[in-house]
This record gives sequence, structure tokens and C-alpha cells, in this order.
Amino acid sequence: MSTSIQLRKVVKRFEALEVIKGVDLDIEPGKFTVFVGPSGCGKSTLLRMIAGLESITGGDLHIGGQKMNDVAAAKRGIAMVFQSYALYPHMTVYKNLAFGLETAGVRRDEIDRRVREAAETLRITEYLPRRPKALSGGQRQRVAIGRSIVRDPNIFLFDEPLSNLDAELRVQMRVEISKLHERLGNTMIYVTHDQVEAMTMADTIVVLRGGEVMQVGSPLELYNRPANRFVAGFIGSPK
Ligand code: ADP
Ligand code: MG
Repeated sequence: MSTSIQLRKVVKRFEALEVIKGVDLDIEPGKFTVFVGPSGCGKSTLLRMIAGLESITGGDLHIGGQKMNDVAAAKRGIAMVFQSYALYPHMTVYKNLAFGLETAGVRRDEIDRRVREAAETLRITEYLPRRPKALSGGQRQRVAIGRSIVRDPNIFLFDEPLSNLDAELRVQMRVEISKLHERLGNTMIYVTHDQVEAMTMADTIVVLRGGEVMQVGSPLELYNRPANRFVAGFIGSPK
């Protein structure tokens, strides 16, 4: 299922500090959108407001056409994958995937179906009986993504999920996440400070700087027609 997200004049202040300065943005349903920009530009804050993990100081957030400013995180149909994926060390991979569904009261056979389907999608079926410490970094990151998939969210948000992985694995996981998007067709927003990640993975790139949107477009549009020198420099286009 794919869901649209709209931000209208969205502002975030931490006390006197305005970190998101009136962002207007339309996230297309079913697309892979990447927020890219230097450290401290507000990527995580914007994502956390969409997820409901951070309150909105001003403006409006709509998800699937519904105003969401004050809707609790758990009711937004969103799953978020973080850079630091805290798996439960004493539980098997199966249990790590099942745990959230058990506490939500999902039926045992339904849990089993969803866990196996997610494991299949992420190619971690053979690791289901193992504990996290027996897995590599990439396998653990897949389990973390699996925990989101089993909840069957409408929207996936990723906040620099690969930055703890080594270079080779990062390239491999980019491909994995792109494939996951092709298979599920959900709306996904992926935050990174890495231009290469943005250019290779995105349907649409949103370039942020200092809490403002500099440009929105496809990788090709940004490369060929950067709106300003900052975008050109950041994307690495010749202009
Ligand atoms: P990014 O993810 O792009 O690196 P962040 O969204 O984490 O940027 O941060 C944007 C700005 O907001 C930074 O200046 C950061 O210091 C500030 N900030 C983030 N969270 C808080 C907070 N809880 N309290 C005060 N300032 C914050
Ligand atoms: Mg961040």
C-alpha cells in the first residue's frame, strides 16, 4: 500500500533555535524519496516529525490525506529504521521479528506467516533460529529492517541506516533496500548525508540545507539543472 505525505510550512523550534524553517514538501506515494544534506541541516528532525517522534512547532503534516500533527506515532502506519539497530541479544532472530507482533496481540499463525515472509524477502530465513551475536553487521541490519516489515507499515522511514557498516556492505545493502522497495512498492523516505547513496537509490531527491529545502527533483534533474551552487556542489554536477 502506498501513501502520500504532505508538509505545509512545517516549522520546528528547539527553544529559540529554529531548525526547520517552513518546509513545503509533497512526498509521492510509492516512491523512494531521499533527504540529503550536510550534517545538522535537519534531516533527522524532519523525519522524526513525520514519524511522530518529535512534535511539530508550526505548519501542517498530512499523511494519506489526513492531518497528522497530533496523531500518536503508533497510529501513523509508519515504521522507522535507525542507524543503531538495537536487537534483543537474548532472543533468536525469529523472536526478535515476532516480539512486536506478540505484544500487539496478533494471532500466532499470522505472526508465523509474517515473520517467514519478511525473512524470505530479506533472505535471512536460515538465521531465524540464531541469536543476533552470531550474525554479521549486514545480517543484523536486515533483521532490523525485518522487524519493520512484519508490522506491514504503509510507510518506511530510514535514518542513515547504513552508516555503521563498512563500505562494501553499504553498497550491497543499498541494492537490497532498493530491491525491497521494488518488491513492496511502499512509500519510503531515506535520509543520508551521502550524495552517492542519494543519486543511486532515489526516485526523488530532496536537498536540505540549514532547515530549508533547496531543491526537489530526480537525480538526473538535480544533476543537469541544479537550482543553485550549493546543490551543484553537493550533487557534484559540473555547473
Ligand atoms: P541532521 O539529521 O541533518 O544531521 P538534525 O535534524 O539531527 O540534523 O539536527 C538539526 C539541528 O537541530 C541541529 O542543529 C541539531 O543540533 C538541532 N537539534 C536536533 N535535535 C535537537 C534537540 N532535541 N534539542 C535541541 N536541538 C536539537
Ligand atoms: Mg541525522
